Amino acid sequence: MRGDRDFGFTDEQLMLRDTVRDFVRKEIPDAKAREYDHKKIAPLDVFDKMAALGWLGIAIPEEYGGSGLGFVELGIVQEELSYGLLELAVLYYRATVHGAHSLITYGSEAQRRKYLPLIAAGKFKSSMSLTEPDAGSDAAGIRTRAVRDGDHFIINGAKIFNSQIDLADRTVLVTRTDPSAPPHKGISLFFVDPKSPGVTIERIETLCFRSVGTNRVTYENVRVHQDDLLGTLNGGWKHLMTNLNKERFSLAAQVTGAAQAALDCALKYAQDRVQFGQPIAKFQVIQHKLADMQMAVHAARLLTYDLARRLDAGVDCRKEASIAKVMTSEIYSRVADEGMQILGGYSMTPDFQMERHYRDSRLMRIGGGSSEILRNSIAKDLGL
Ligand SMILES: Cc1cc2nc3c(=O)[nH]c(=O)nc-3n(C[C@H](O)[C@H](O)[C@H](O)COP(=O)(O)OP(=O)(O)OC[C@H]3O[C@@H](n4cnc5c(N)ncnc54)[C@H](O)[C@@H]3O)c2cc1C
Repeated sequence: MRGDRDFGFTDEQLMLRDTVRDFVRKEIPDAKAREYDHKKIAPLDVFDKMAALGWLGIAIPEEYGGSGLGFVELGIVQEELSYGLLELAVLYYRATVHGAHSLITYGSEAQRRKYLPLIAAGKFKSSMSLTEPDAGSDAAGIRTRAVRDGDHFIINGAKIFNSQIDLADRTVLVTRTDPSAPPHKGISLFFVDPKSPGVTIERIETLCFRSVGTNRVTYENVRVHQDDLLGTLNGGWKHLMTNLNKERFSLAAQVTGAAQAALDCALKYAQDRVQFGQPIAKFQVIQHKLADMQMAVHAARLLTYDLARRLDAGVDCRKEASIAKVMTSEIYSRVADEGMQILGGYSMTPDFQMERHYRDSRLMRIGGGSSEILRNSIAKDLGL
């Protein structure tokens, strides 16, 4: 059904795609994905099976226990996992991008040697702790403080919407270490164990992302050793920015896979559902909706793998990353919305995956850089 041989994948990449696709069909069929979401259970059993296959190490250099592949492969895995359940791909990218790529990009050699082999083996989960109650889009406005105390730092503050920190072995915690410096200059990152004394985690009820979920976190006199400083002291903002394109790329790959799943669900429903004596897929208006959805998913995939190749080539792709994240997340939203229309009243029931896509797609236009903030960035690139 999915004719994507023409995305320029090599034979090895096609083999990887088919292997992950078969795994997803077997391990996380539609009914199981709906159950994780409705019962609010994280797909940890599937994560562990995937870890055993070595997929967590795909983009980790071989010297640290990985396969040393690139962003095209990372995109293929995320797209296919997300076809089964978006939050499974999110679990995967927190480990491979927020965890592994933070270490690869700005971690110390000792940190790489300590953590990368564990991540590659799928024995280590990570999360990202940036957003605060008063600092969302204006991320440089964070107030969580880290104050030096000998060879430790003492951390106090509050974070919100911290996804899967309750499952993580370490979180990338964004703190303010120099309050007298300009906002972007006094920020430092720490790789913190969420089970440390003084960390309190409370699950938040949300419309979307109900399987893995998100949390409110408070830090009260949490002691963190200076060896867990990630990158340079007060250089955290610059480090965050270097990883941003990889995060936006990951989100683009994930929403492309989820949009494909929504399209396939609507297509099947339209062929099965009979009204006025014929399948509703025979009505031209439904055919055009499906054609529009197909066009949109095709465009999302092109944007995603164009970005993957730029990342693999190591060229500057800040603008392309913003464009891909805005376009693909808005495509996912549109495809899910049309999918709801095609499924009619049944779209509202938990018997079909479409209502999950409708909810999850809404988040993807807000999280990881909202459509407005990314349009600001694209406008800036136009010299505005
Ligand atoms: C389910 C879920 C999971 C999440 N997971 C994580 C996570 O794991 N880690 C993490 O750190 N964060 C996470 N987030 C936080 C997410 O990244 C933020 O919600 C997002 O960055 C927006 O911040 P905000 O919600 O405070 O909105 P605000 O920044 O208050 O924005 C509100 C509205 O104003 C608009 N706006 C703000 N400033 C401007 C501007 N300058 N120009 C134009 N429009 C503007 C925004 O686009 C938005 O529409 C998660 C959020 C959710 C809901």
